[in-house]
Amino acid sequence: MKVAFLTLGCKVNSYETDKMKKSFADAGYIITSFEDCADVYIINTCTVTNIADRKSRQMLHKARKLNPNALVVATGCYVDSAIKKGEKDDSIDIFISNKDKSHILDIVNDSIKDGIISTDNSIVTTAERHEHTRAYVKVQDGCNQYCTYCIIPYVRGEIKSRSIADIETEVKELAKKGYKEIVITGIHVSSYGASPDDAQSFIKLGGKPLLKLLKAISHVDGIERIRLGSLEPRIITENFVKELVAIPQLCPHFHLSLQSGSDTVLKRMNRHYTSEKYFECVKVLRKYFENPAITTDIIVGFPQETEEEFKETCRFVQKIGFAQIHIFKYSRRRGTIADEMDGQLTEQKKADRSHKLSVMERELEIAYQKQAVKEYEKVLFEEIIKIDNEKYLIGHNERYIRIAVPAERINDTKSLCNTIQKVRILENLTHEILLAQIL
Ligand code: SF4
Repeated sequence: MKVAFLTLGCKVNSYETDKMKKSFADAGYIITSFEDCADVYIINTCTVTNIADRKSRQMLHKARKLNPNALVVATGCYVDSAIKKGEKDDSIDIFISNKDKSHILDIVNDSIKDGIISTDNSIVTTAERHEHTRAYVKVQDGCNQYCTYCIIPYVRGEIKSRSIADIETEVKELAKKGYKEIVITGIHVSSYGASPDDAQSFIKLGGKPLLKLLKAISHVDGIERIRLGSLEPRIITENFVKELVAIPQLCPHFHLSLQSGSDTVLKRMNRHYTSEKYFECVKVLRKYFENPAITTDIIVGFPQETEEEFKETCRFVQKIGFAQIHIFKYSRRRGTIADEMDGQLTEQKKADRSHKLSVMERELEIAYQKQAVKEYEKVLFEEIIKIDNEKYLIGHNERYIRIAVPAERINDTKSLCNTIQKVRILENLTHEILLAQIL
């Protein structure tokens, strides 16, 4: 029985899809590409914006077209939101809410037994699993920050943190399978270990539960890198960073969500920090880590965003010198406060601002690479890719810069996948990928 997965949205969804894949593979399903004709399609949806909703629906319909007789399963945040609103879609066979995701294999098996699709057990074989080098580990779920543009607190619910022992066991299993890098993810990682009753309690805790967790993971044999997922700037204090820098496996890469460099926009977004506070956090990180990669998310075209507010964001982006920015055009989300705000911007205005910011982003990315990349770097090689018909072995350094080595210069490319190698940097291959040679 062939099953195909498609993931939309955030790293938490990627993590949860990996978990689902594993349980289906262990049960004897063949994991196939989403473009193939499969017996079961599982789409892990997202609802962060109306566009995400639309994309989720499109992919569900695409699955139905790929095989009209398949079992089409929708799970993830779009499902929770659609269930709440009583939305129906006849092309989907099963809706599975986030809270039932862990039972998805049983639900699918039961549906097959119940004859929603027919099965030929003779084709059940052990699945060929895709090799991974970097594992996403979800340490908490839920968020109670209620940013005015975001639907997540309504669909994911209150904060729930996993125990350190539970996470440690998972990381040990991942290390046994050969994973070298762990990425700590969650809906609001900074709230790890905080009380669900007090949205701001994570600040009083000073990130201590997260530090305890990171230290525990750093003792797991075989884990050579630990990367932090998106952090909220308010968790960054001098004490917190002093402890972070003492964890040798921790990558000097910090994704601090900014969303806007304008204080008035931040206020309308209910983001609880100012650009000044954000700047202070970055200064602390730069004091303790050498050339850390500071990456971020920015929303352009938030309701009522004036030209001057947008310029404030542009100036702030330059002032920080981000290594990478994920730029999002604000997209209305029903059920959120921002959707009700006056002064919604036109799509054209949002597109113009997004374009201006991406030009700036590209320049900053190149400038960061020049400043942070040394002659010799260590790369965790992950995959073989083709660029202009040439094959390259490619991976990331600790600062999440992509570095590629021509495959023709290596005898056994596959054996180097999932190993950390010292390389010498030669030149830029593309604007974001560096060319190197293995030493
Ligand atoms: S912090 Fe804000 S944007 Fe992030 S999940 Fe929570 S409410 Fe949404």
